Amino acid sequence: MIEPVVGVLALQGDVREHVQALAECGLRSALIRRPEELAEVDALIIPGGESTTISRLLQSFELLEPLRERLRAGMPAYGSCAGMILLGNGLLDGRPGQQQLSAMDAVVRRNAFGRQVDSFEADLDFTGVDGAPVRAVFIRAPWVEEAGPDVEVLARVPDVPEAGVAAGRIVAVRQGTVLATAFHPELTGDRRVHQLFCETVRAACRRP
Ligand code: GLN
Repeated sequence: MIEPVVGVLALQGDVREHVQALAECGLRSALIRRPEELAEVDALIIPGGESTTISRLLQSFELLEPLRERLRAGMPAYGSCAGMILLGNGLLDGRPGQQQLSAMDAVVRRNAFGRQVDSFEADLDFTGVDGAPVRAVFIRAPWVEEAGPDVEVLARVPDVPEAGVAAGRIVAVRQGTVLATAFHPELTGDRRVHQLFCETVRAACRRP
């Protein structure tokens, strides 16, 4: 069987870290900046970075519509942080004109953890990830404010007083073959979240 190729959207953000994580999971990757490159891959990762910048660059690189089209056609996708914002279909605290890809029925709140809390870490129970909790690094992160009936909640911030306003908030979701996390597993060296996505990609590519 031919192994799938996973594109990493390479307009802005922590692209290299995702490429490295994919390599460690045994999947080939390709950097995506043009529609022709997008057409060649079986799946896509949208990295963490700045969602307003990525949105703007998607438009100027004429990738926005081709990407929406691939997602509508069922291409598996994973977004971390800014990537989660882009994959949603509703946005709170976005910038005027900021685009989303509407690949999942989720309203995402941008910079949700508050301006004071630039970064925050927590150990999360993550559905579909076996073993120890996942150490999650949140950097000016969003959360999912509202998830539709077809969206599976995979992780929430622990509902403890130390979590403050973030307590119990939804920070990892899946709808079909689309996965999103508010945090950055690409930064920690724990590859279990990428493994989960890679299994989805392999399964989707085996289907006739
Ligand atoms: N705050 C960023 C945004 O709005 C996301 C931050 C991140 O990806 N680490 O896109």
